Amino acid sequence: MSRSEDIRNEVYRFLRQQKEFRYPDPILPGFRGIGKGIATKPVSAVSAPPAPAATRPAAPAGGNLTTVREDLGECTRCGLHGQRTNLVFGVGNPNAKLMFIGEAPGADEDRIGEPFVGRAGQLLDKIFAAADIRREDVYITNIVKCRPPGNRDPQPDEVTTCNPFLLQQIDAIQPQLICALGRFAAQTLLDKTEGIGRLRGRWFDWHGKRLICTYHPSACLRNESYKRPVWNDFQMLRDAYKELVEN
Ligand code: SF4
Repeated sequence: MSRSEDIRNEVYRFLRQQKEFRYPDPILPGFRGIGKGIATKPVSAVSAPPAPAATRPAAPAGGNLTTVREDLGECTRCGLHGQRTNLVFGVGNPNAKLMFIGEAPGADEDRIGEPFVGRAGQLLDKIFAAADIRREDVYITNIVKCRPPGNRDPQPDEVTTCNPFLLQQIDAIQPQLICALGRFAAQTLLDKTEGIGRLRGRWFDWHGKRLICTYHPSACLRNESYKRPVWNDFQMLRDAYKELVEN
């Protein structure tokens, strides 16, 4: 089974569980490690698909991103829907080789309906420009799609309810590189508790994709000393991305 099929099967398993249990409890035992098992279990330990793989042909990259958005609809599956202005699904190239995943929409993102458009987003755009990465070439989204009140961390049940849609986005886009922006996204995706200072600056194998973590741009706005390590991380990312695009 290919890694792409494997991640797809994980999505189907989540969806089947959701359908079966109608969201009575968090689907996963914990909120960390989106796609539980993807980052921490060997491939052979992931559940078998609900139907033979032959009946589930692989969608072309980006081929069903629209369907994912339609399935999400005007989502009320978790409590975060109550105070949102806009659901912030994601933006960018549906066939991106590089995907950025942050924590959650902030106030500006909630107002406009697009991720990373506030001050942190403007800084991210500057980093993109310095690293020769075009925003329109990559895909940007968040762990959860609705703004937590007061910009608090998303709660475990909110993450577990929203994460099948992130997995479906990843499955649709099939990026080869993922960058987790900030502590929460890094810990959640990797199922780790170490601080971002220990997680950043190195590559992880995330279900066959290369994943790197760095400080969230908003952290850089609060603490200038984070800009240097962020730039170091983006140089690693830029080199890997260029190699991918040019070959
Ligand atoms: S955060 Fe996700 S699951 Fe919760 S209401 Fe928004 S889209 Fe739905």
